[in-house]
Amino acid sequence: MTAYEAVKVRLDPTPRQERMLASHAGAARFAYNLMLSRICRQLSLGERPDWTMYAMRRWWNEWKDEIAPWWRENSKEAYNSAFEWLSQALRNWSDSRKGRRCGRRVGWPKYKSKRTSIPRFAYTTGSFGLIEGDPKALRLPRVGRVHCMEDTARLVHGRRIVRMTVSRRAGAWYAALTVEQQPGAHPARKARRRDYPVGVDLGVRTLATLSDGTVFTNPHGYVRARHRLRHAQQTLSRRDKDTNHGRGSNRRYKALDRVRRIHARIAAQRADRIGKLTAWLAATYPDISIEDLNVRGMTRNHRLAKHVLDADFAEFRRQLEYKTARAGTRLHVIDRWYPSSKTCHRCGTVKAKLSLGERVYHCDGCGLTMDRDLNAAINIMVAGSAPETLNARGGDVRRPGSSEATQTPVKREPSGHANAVRLGAAPGNRGM
Ligand SMILES: [Zn+2]
Repeated sequence: MTAYEAVKVRLDPTPRQERMLASHAGAARFAYNLMLSRICRQLSLGERPDWTMYAMRRWWNEWKDEIAPWWRENSKEAYNSAFEWLSQALRNWSDSRKGRRCGRRVGWPKYKSKRTSIPRFAYTTGSFGLIEGDPKALRLPRVGRVHCMEDTARLVHGRRIVRMTVSRRAGAWYAALTVEQQPGAHPARKARRRDYPVGVDLGVRTLATLSDGTVFTNPHGYVRARHRLRHAQQTLSRRDKDTNHGRGSNRRYKALDRVRRIHARIAAQRADRIGKLTAWLAATYPDISIEDLNVRGMTRNHRLAKHVLDADFAEFRRQLEYKTARAGTRLHVIDRWYPSSKTCHRCGTVKAKLSLGERVYHCDGCGLTMDRDLNAAINIMVAGSAPETLNARGGDVRRPGSSEATQTPVKREPSGHANAVRLGAAPGNRGM
């Protein structure tokens, strides 16, 4: 099975190219809405429409000269990607009705609106992609050579590009490239490798605290930009919502655009921070343990919600999973009910209660006083990489011969072992 990765770059089109990109996205939207209305009409007449992508393409090729004589202005890929998306949306809807999507309800596809939907289209065939000897550019059929903000060739790193989705967000155009993941073809960045296992405690105040004392601060992009965002949102709420037949005034549209830009900037800062942290971790340690955080449960707490979303734990785990697999690093995901912050890492005493405000862990059993996150990170490291030592305490816990771990990447799904071993008595078999 081939695994895929996404590489996203910001495009830097000329004004003429920007008009062409908008035209392609508009063409995709037109084709999507046209085909959806045709299918709705067929259904209302009691017919059973064929909504495979191929049937849609066939019908379009038959009628495009009549319905859209301007179709040649855009690459045929723009129309084809619309049919692919619509066909997928309809399939999701029908699977969900048949109960094949594990309880997830999927609604009937909606028409794409010019104002509210994200302008996008995709290339899957043809000569799109990198240009030989021109690393900061991409070739988009019908549009031409488009300059990129980043060194795209370095990001793609010789891997095959199977798809390119072009979209606009908050006024900027992006190309998302789907590339084939080749184990070994993307060597880990030259970081000085450390030969001991590490535990990572993801936090609210600091993004991550490692069991060896390394601390990664939060980008706190949201907190820093909050003032600007609040101001922009206040401006937006003052703008007229009801003019232009309920679509809102032009000045409202501009204010909305500003809010979107601030959100996009925050998201970009966050993605950058998480991407760098996960890459560094996977390249530096042979054995990493993290907690399976119940992100949904935490977001329910309003005071925490903003920060949890800000630090984007789910994305952190997703990236760490594929990057450790690529680098041949072991990753342990610890059971979410393991009391990593309430337990003393030295003597194993579990506190009944530890409020979020207590930043320093103080143990009543042995008198240990330590940063709360660091104590939790050490517990996570032990529970993940050496759970057999959990109840045989005494001094530092070291895992013997951890260097061989680099040759045998094993990914373990959350297991109840860590918890069971601590609370029960028998060290026993770890089942690895
Ligand atoms: Zn203690």
